[in-house]
Amino acid sequence: MSIYDDLGVTTVINGVGPATRLGGLPVSEPVWAAMREAMSVTVRISALQAAAGRRLSSLLEVPACYVTSGAAAALTLGTAVALTGSDSARVDALPNTTGMPNRVIIQRAQRDPYDHAITAAGAELVEIGYPHTTHTSELERAIDERTAAVLVRPGAPGNLLTLRTISEIAHERGIPVIVDGALRVPPIERLQQFFADGADLVAVSGGKKFRAPQATGILCGRPDLIAAVALHHQDMDEREQTWMSGELAGSPEPWARSAPPRHGIGRSMKVGREQIAGLVTAVDRYVNAPGEDDRDGLAELDILEEQLRGQSSTTVTRGFEESLDVPVLHLDLSAAGVDIDTVIRALATGDPAIAVGEDHAWRSVLTVNPLALLPGDGARFAAAFARTLDLLSADGATTDGASS
Ligand SMILES: *Cc1c(COP(=O)(O)O)cnc(C)c1O
Repeated sequence: MSIYDDLGVTTVINGVGPATRLGGLPVSEPVWAAMREAMSVTVRISALQAAAGRRLSSLLEVPACYVTSGAAAALTLGTAVALTGSDSARVDALPNTTGMPNRVIIQRAQRDPYDHAITAAGAELVEIGYPHTTHTSELERAIDERTAAVLVRPGAPGNLLTLRTISEIAHERGIPVIVDGALRVPPIERLQQFFADGADLVAVSGGKKFRAPQATGILCGRPDLIAAVALHHQDMDEREQTWMSGELAGSPEPWARSAPPRHGIGRSMKVGREQIAGLVTAVDRYVNAPGEDDRDGLAELDILEEQLRGQSSTTVTRGFEESLDVPVLHLDLSAAGVDIDTVIRALATGDPAIAVGEDHAWRSVLTVNPLALLPGDGARFAAAFARTLDLLSADGATTDGASS
């Protein structure tokens, strides 16, 4: 009996992909094995973090890395470091930012619900520009003595300031640039390009296309900034006489020369041995065989496409999700005569339960992402989808949502 049977929780065919609300992607056997091994003996987390950071930065070819509990946590920790540097008094004060620069500038076009990760550290967001355009003068005017960082979230369309332009302007004034790379990395070349374009810190998700454990992420960036992340993040149940602060920096003399701060704002975003080991293994696997673990899901997408082509009420087309660099299926229901929200709800509560992408629901199109599909899911999805549409059509669930 599985833990889910035991708990009475329905398993779901995940056609959405690496969504946190669906637990992310399945992890590979080697990642599992590393997690199991890591949990069976004790190490100091500070030493493990330092070593994992070195390994990740060499695998990804970026300046320095720190393991977090997700890209959102990486954004909060990166913001925290931009606010405090390695000043223990400031680290202790967050999220109270009295007496420190606390403004983070962002282009209006790049606002996103994940902005909460920035303000959680105590920062205040300052918008510049309009929904599809920003001028350089707007950034130049916005930077003042209250500015702590500029946030860049690549991928939004419009005549926006490029990362390179932003970095040039911000660096002239000594302001660091933080990039939310969660939905853009991998591919790894994009991450390296962020640094080539001047990023100081980049937040990356482990639970998306890297196929690491869901609650992992990486904060990549300038070594001096990354060294200060640990102050906000690590368990500080330490005595000042014996605190091994040097270990964090890989120093041969591990003992403290300064008093430790207390538990910081990142203490509630802790990562365990198993997360660190799983992440390092998953990234290593991705770097050495990119896309290898996507194959099963892509095969299921082919099966699903093939079987849905016989479905007269649905127009099936191939799309490409540029952000995750993956092909998807678009199921167009605009001619099916059924209300799309009713279809989504019926799939979510059916047997088998199915989750589908809703990014294009506004135009009556469902999206199927292959990354989390397991062997057999394509055929089960196709059969359940056909049954659901037949039932709803017979039921009279019409496009205006009325049901007889
Ligand atoms: C997914 C995502 C995040 C958060 O990533 P987690 O690893 O789930 O914390 C942040 N920003 C953007 C743009 C994302 O798409």
